[in-house]
Amino acid sequence: MKRPILYHPDPRLKKLCVPVSDITDEMRLLADDMLETMYAAPGIGLAAPQIGVLSRIIVMDCEKEEDADPNPIVMINPEITAQSEETNVYEEGCLSIPEHYAEVTRPKEVEVAWIDVNGVARKQGFDGLWATCVQHEIDHLNGKLFIDHIGVMKRQLITRKMQKFKRELARKKDD
Ligand code: ZN
Repeated sequence: MKRPILYHPDPRLKKLCVPVSDITDEMRLLADDMLETMYAAPGIGLAAPQIGVLSRIIVMDCEKEEDADPNPIVMINPEITAQSEETNVYEEGCLSIPEHYAEVTRPKEVEVAWIDVNGVARKQGFDGLWATCVQHEIDHLNGKLFIDHIGVMKRQLITRKMQKFKRELARKKDD
């Protein structure tokens, strides 16, 4: 089931999310909903707080080739266990900050440990877009958005535009 995505600014997007202690059917259903919501948007990553669930779960699919098979990854309690000194700059966006983009510098490669939906501990290295995406999504679990990595002027400008966008959305709902 597709879920509504929260838009910045929202206090739920600034919260530290809690680790998942049990991987239940409810949790697997949540992961399915997150993937459905992400693909429908469309996006390449989604964190649970973006749909108002303050648990440490992220989903991603950074497969770029149009005709490639979907390559969804669900990570529960993901942790970055190593990162490269070499950095990469990507123009990032976010489903919670639609139509705004900014260049963000992050480690080029990261190693991530997580629990999969079957409760199995996994560890894998990521680079390129996958590395940027997994860092962006883990940031969400710590109440951090990509605009927290950019200059204060640009961040305030985007936040003001998003406040206006949300006011207009609310007004449309009232009509
Ligand atoms: Zn995001």
